[in-house]
Amino acid sequence: MHSPKFGSITNKHMIIDFRSDTVTRPTPAMLEAMMKATVGDDVFGEDPAVNELEQTAATLFGKEAALFCPSGTMTNQIAIKCHTQPGDEVICDADAHIYQYEGGGIAANSGASVKLLPGDRGRINALQVEQAIQPDDVHRPRTSLVCVENTSNRGGGSCYDFEELKKIKQVCDNNGLPFHIDGARLFNALVAKNETPRPYGELFDSISICLSKSLGCPVGSLLLGDARFIKKAKRVRKLFGGGMRQVGYLAAAGIYALQHHIERLSEDHEHAKMIGAALQTQTYVERVMPVETNIVIFETKETSAKDLVALLKDQSILAYAIAPTKVRLVLHLDITKEMVTRTIQILENLKSA
Ligand SMILES: *Cc1c(COP(=O)(O)O)cnc(C)c1O
Repeated sequence: MHSPKFGSITNKHMIIDFRSDTVTRPTPAMLEAMMKATVGDDVFGEDPAVNELEQTAATLFGKEAALFCPSGTMTNQIAIKCHTQPGDEVICDADAHIYQYEGGGIAANSGASVKLLPGDRGRINALQVEQAIQPDDVHRPRTSLVCVENTSNRGGGSCYDFEELKKIKQVCDNNGLPFHIDGARLFNALVAKNETPRPYGELFDSISICLSKSLGCPVGSLLLGDARFIKKAKRVRKLFGGGMRQVGYLAAAGIYALQHHIERLSEDHEHAKMIGAALQTQTYVERVMPVETNIVIFETKETSAKDLVALLKDQSILAYAIAPTKVRLVLHLDITKEMVTRTIQILENLKSA
């Protein structure tokens, strides 16, 4: 394997970090909102900022209640624990975060197994789900939960068609199965598809959303559901060590983000499309996955993803090799238009020299 050489555009001082949308730092306005938070002991349910954040998010989706947690891994894992019993089986896409990136938590935390489906860029369909449900047979694990991810991370930020989600929900209802959505980037999907949160609230028994990704918070995720589910979830959060005390300072960042950082996601999507389009014509690129939201994934040609990432790093651009020949770039709040322009220049010069 040989590597493409660089042109001469280099500025070692400005690092442009596309590794993940988790790398954002709070804006001055967000920090100010955090400083002003009124806090209390959230394990006692006495933190006003946390209560406000949970109530705001629940209302947004038309759900009864919400639970603030340290991470999206925790909100997903709590949901899985609440919906399953040891020995049960969870249906999800083979690329799902709950399976790929949560440390084997489905098995470790819930004692459950997984039925992995080969989806379309991270998205499974109703027919696949229906065919994956185990028959009522003592030899078989008991299917007890269906999970989808929207947008799909390894699917390159792909969005579900809401009509398909409704069909999956119908299959769930026909079989008495709860339906969970890993919505780490659900707001990206809502903005990209011009959808509103409430229909998602109606469709899903539990919803996980991340505040620490595109919404720009330093920490935090929310789990939404009905009051009974969230009561149970709160017990599991304690069990997992996720009960936090005067955490309203972080919840205040979440409240700020829900007010100010949703609409601007369209900028990230615009930037991602520009970068995707620029990559399309480069000789070192085999294929760019369709860009639907803030994630750009491309396959390399004649060079490994690792080598290409190293070359980009020499030019102060940080990206992530997610497979031997796949590179991922994620747009976010801290990437300006100027940085995007500069990145495109660098990407276009990678082939020259
Ligand atoms: C980031 C992410 C999560 C949660 O990750 P944490 O780092 O634990 O907050 C869950 N699902 C998806 C699809 C993600 O991209």
